[in-house]
Amino acid sequence: MPTIKAAVCHEFGQPFVIENIDIRAPQDAEVEVTLAACAICHSDITYASGAWGGSLPAVYGHEAAGTVTAIGPNTKDVKIGDKVVVTLIRSCGTCPSCASARPTNCEEGYEGDHGPIKTADGGKLHQAMACGGFAEKVVVDASQVVTLPDGITMEAASLLACGVITGIGAVVNAAKVRPGQDVVVIGAGGVGLNAIQGAKIAGARRIVAVDMEPSKLDIAREFGATDAVLASTDAPWRDAKAAMGRGADAVLVTVGIAPVYDQAPKYLAKGGNIVMVGMPASGAFSQYEAANFAAAGQGMIGSKMGDVVIKRDIPWMVDLYKQGRLKLDELISGTWSLDQINDAIDDTKTGAAKRNVIVF
Ligand SMILES: [Zn+2]
Ligand SMILES: [Zn+2]
Repeated sequence: MPTIKAAVCHEFGQPFVIENIDIRAPQDAEVEVTLAACAICHSDITYASGAWGGSLPAVYGHEAAGTVTAIGPNTKDVKIGDKVVVTLIRSCGTCPSCASARPTNCEEGYEGDHGPIKTADGGKLHQAMACGGFAEKVVVDASQVVTLPDGITMEAASLLACGVITGIGAVVNAAKVRPGQDVVVIGAGGVGLNAIQGAKIAGARRIVAVDMEPSKLDIAREFGATDAVLASTDAPWRDAKAAMGRGADAVLVTVGIAPVYDQAPKYLAKGGNIVMVGMPASGAFSQYEAANFAAAGQGMIGSKMGDVVIKRDIPWMVDLYKQGRLKLDELISGTWSLDQINDAIDDTKTGAAKRNVIVF
């Protein structure tokens, strides 16, 4: 088996170890992608902290882009030499969820302990999120990749694998925001900025960003927020409603903090929907006054990965980027080598709104 360099998590809460691992050739409908870039997502950091459990040792990383360097015998539509985005959205294409255009909810499980990677001495190595992108190469199912046109850098393309599609998809696919509606985005981090971009693309009237950090609110305005509300005030929903002149048609909760879910209904207009995007730690619960949802015709929707269909949604986002209507380069705060990944993660943990990208 070929040997590649990877960042391996051996113990939750501890720095990754840069070491050689083995990766087998693609089988069946798999592709091998030699990575050019992999962004660091907060989900990687949450997994590495142990908050969501999972198997160890593991290779995280799931916002990747690179070049196809080998394909399995049953791979269609992707060829060696193609530049691709690599996502964690592995879909069988035939289960009830896939058949109803919800591949993010594919019902066919994936067991990362028996994936394509092993430790250098042949031991078990978990391919986290069906990807394992903190490594020089990945072998993934062809359903997880989308071919890219020219005119987009690999660093920018990597962001389309998770944060961008999650934020924009939550607005257009889950909340189904129509032109003229009012949108509140709680959390102006990596996903929140993209929910703001999505609301702008969808033609929202007012887009109110809510965050604890004044600096993040400044960035939120650059990405299309019409109004900014500091979350540290007593009742930020009052300030948000004042800005809109009413409640919100859609409230996107992009932070994984349970008490924020408790507050989210307070921002809503009658008939509005909360879209739950951020994922609190396993075991966290939220409370809300149940009767209000029926009385005001409101809804609460969970949205995984923006409910995207990657081969439908990523190409139009790439095209908007090429037209200058979608910001991607502006989402990148820094580029780092794989050897520097622990420093890049520490930098991300400081609460930076934007993405750090590992380049190979
Ligand atoms: Zn992610
Ligand atoms: Zn499926």
